[in-house]
Amino acid sequence: MQQAMRKDLSISNRVGSDAITGSELTDAERARILAKSALFSPPPTQLPDGRRELVGLSRDELKAELDAIGEQPFRAKQLWHWIYHRGETDFARMSSISRNLQQNLAERFVIGRPETAAAQASADQTRKFLFRFRDGQEVETVYIPDPEEDRGAVCLSSQVGCTLSCRFCHTGTQRLVRNLSAGEIVGQFMAVRDAYGEWPSPTGDTPRLLSTIVLMGMGEPLYNYTNVAKAMTIVMDGEGIGLSRRRITLSTSGVVPMMDRCGAELGVNLAVSLHAVHNDLRDELVPLNRKYPIEELIAACRRYPGASNARRITFEYVMLRGVNDSPADARALVRLIAGIPAKVNLIPFNPWPGSRFEPSRPATLRQFADIVMNAGYAAPVRTPRGRDILAACGQLRTESKRTEAKQTESRSRAS
Ligand code: SF4
Repeated sequence: MQQAMRKDLSISNRVGSDAITGSELTDAERARILAKSALFSPPPTQLPDGRRELVGLSRDELKAELDAIGEQPFRAKQLWHWIYHRGETDFARMSSISRNLQQNLAERFVIGRPETAAAQASADQTRKFLFRFRDGQEVETVYIPDPEEDRGAVCLSSQVGCTLSCRFCHTGTQRLVRNLSAGEIVGQFMAVRDAYGEWPSPTGDTPRLLSTIVLMGMGEPLYNYTNVAKAMTIVMDGEGIGLSRRRITLSTSGVVPMMDRCGAELGVNLAVSLHAVHNDLRDELVPLNRKYPIEELIAACRRYPGASNARRITFEYVMLRGVNDSPADARALVRLIAGIPAKVNLIPFNPWPGSRFEPSRPATLRQFADIVMNAGYAAPVRTPRGRDILAACGQLRTESKRTEAKQTESRSRAS
């Protein structure tokens, strides 16, 4: 499809006034991505008893819900404060709202959280949660505390499973089931906040334990852009959770047409799963590269709005022994990203059962990092976190599915 489009572009450029422009092509490709994404829409947010979930509604949608039951717009502001600033889930405890209205709201709405199906804590304080949604689907969310300061990152999932099959990624072995709704994405963050008791939302200079969001969990966030964008808009709202866009990083495998839109509309930090510097290898490791090759990806990084030395683009590079970790690869990487305000995160590969890669040797990793750093780029080697728990993204969900399958099997044997 993409190849056909590229061919069309070169032809149309030659024919002059009727030519299709590059931006029209990108718009068409974006429309195609959004239409495909809609095929994996999350289920409706209405419970079997008819009550509606409020988490995940935009401010306007919340106003409309209240308007429909004859309430004034200021009630939406009050509710927003209770839901996102105070973290309240029980209408009866919303002291600024009359008892009548509390009851009225409780009959019609819920303020939910995903159920914690499993949680694991590592010796290094990393905590992994398996969250289950109302339809039984599960995703992983990880809290990674800063080892030195009282703050930390919450790694959120955006889809159940993934379509992209990156070869080094455990989640890539799971088929895409569906997209998460905005409420399910925000709900992961809120549920982790519940676990750490970080309500009300800290304001101003008050330190936050959950200080950053990274969209690096299960799924490709730019293949669920509509819900991810809505969720991040809710998270950034200053009268609620109030996390600044500078504290949010979206990681993509390189969905080029959506990168521009993400930069223009959300302006969050960008991380790119690069992992290889030549198309033939990247085609293998990150198959999406066959659609959007390295040259297009790097061009999209160069034009990403707001990228500066203060807000650098992060290139993620998983170090695979004998595959992508040679000094020549490091030098090619430096040439590739020349001129982009960037840093390179070197990630020691975290092996999982069935993976065909091995982590790079420490000396190779150091040599690679030195080459990148000597070229003027920060190249931190990410300390592996949570090695003592099922740390590779997607492993906990696979375990949970396996246990569920075993239980179903033994139940059917017993009956
Ligand atoms: S790395 Fe991300 S995009 Fe690639 S398969 Fe894993 S979850 Fe999907």
